[in-house]
Amino acid sequence: MNHDVVIIGGGVAAVNALKAIRELNTDMNLTVIQNESVYPYYRTRLTKSLFEDLDANKILLQKKEWYEQNNVNLYLGREVTSIDTENCSVHLNDGSCLNYDKLLLANGSINFKPPIEGIDKENVFTIRTFQDIQTLKAKINDTETILTIGGGIQNLEAAWAFCSHGKKVMIAEFMDKLMPRQLDPRASEILKKAVEASNVKVFLGTQVTTITGEDKVNGVVTQSGDTFNCDMIVYSVGIRPNKKIYESTSIDMNLGVVVNHHMQTSLENIYAAGDIAELNGKVGGLWTIAIEQGKTAGYNIAGKTTSYNSSLPVTTLNAFHLDVFSVGTVDENSYSQTLIDDPLNDQSYRKKIR
Ligand SMILES: Cc1cc2nc3c(=O)[nH]c(=O)nc-3n(C[C@H](O)[C@H](O)[C@H](O)COP(=O)(O)OP(=O)(O)OC[C@H]3O[C@@H](n4cnc5c(N)ncnc54)[C@H](O)[C@@H]3O)c2cc1C
Repeated sequence: MNHDVVIIGGGVAAVNALKAIRELNTDMNLTVIQNESVYPYYRTRLTKSLFEDLDANKILLQKKEWYEQNNVNLYLGREVTSIDTENCSVHLNDGSCLNYDKLLLANGSINFKPPIEGIDKENVFTIRTFQDIQTLKAKINDTETILTIGGGIQNLEAAWAFCSHGKKVMIAEFMDKLMPRQLDPRASEILKKAVEASNVKVFLGTQVTTITGEDKVNGVVTQSGDTFNCDMIVYSVGIRPNKKIYESTSIDMNLGVVVNHHMQTSLENIYAAGDIAELNGKVGGLWTIAIEQGKTAGYNIAGKTTSYNSSLPVTTLNAFHLDVFSVGTVDENSYSQTLIDDPLNDQSYRKKIR
């Protein structure tokens, strides 16, 4: 069977590409290979609603029927192991092989595993997939104290969920502020106070070097020699695009799979979008970016020339009784004008920069 378009990965970039293609073309054969066994879902909900009943059916990006109604062959629980760009074929872990006319790489990223001694011990987790949440939650009742490594948005959401669930929580962040990429020092200080007011301990400028315990974690040692006891660790310290399966091809790669503004790779009939893609030297790593890049790739695949216009990264955090909103990136040296509204009550703070 000929598969006009094959999509590797079934995340938000893939689903938005499918929608864009179907908007313009109802005839193309569309096939998605997704290694998770659940239908494409809102990944961002994993940490936002950690202890809610996260039945995958309630967080689906599209209803299950949508794929059938739109004539999409969705292969769940199957993984692409390699691609052959000479023969335009994709090889799966069950030994099967699919041919394509156009291929979209939308297989996202993994959470970076920091080189910490003992990182593979029992009860060390990272949250990327629906299955990760199930595995972590199966251990939570036997857990008292959780250390999260990394003070970015994902871990702050997880820390909030853990402490709301009655767990003792600590956050260790290597930089000198929380949400270092999105907040300036004052906003970060307000956030830290709110986190601490919920009895979560925050250790800034702290690098965990060793995870201790026989088989199962019982604590950590930091670079400065401090020790903390804990019986679970959750780390989130950045992402890495899932580019390994493309390494034997001639597709240009750097941090991720390099694309132009049409989300086209160095090979004409192969596109990439979302966390796997690198545009202008940057991997987006954000939900809204994956949506727009997926759409752009979809339109181009269906024949409508469209360019992706980089938008400013937007981040929101609703936790610890605070609403945090950040647009753009914080670089103290990159702006000359500021407008600050800070009543110094640690309740509200606004800063606009130009
Ligand atoms: C817990 C969590 C919270 C987040 N919160 C936010 C947030 O608040 N705001 C924000 O902007 N962003 C957030 N993000 C980031 C956001 O979810 C990602 O940027 C977005 O999901 C990227 O979409 P994608 O489609 O490129 O990749 P993904 O959503 O990662 O989907 C790719 C899919 O491809 C599958 N796959 C990988 N390799 C293969 C293969 N070889 N064969 C078949 N399938 C494969 C993967 O398992 C995955 O299911 C969060 C991420 C996580 C993990």
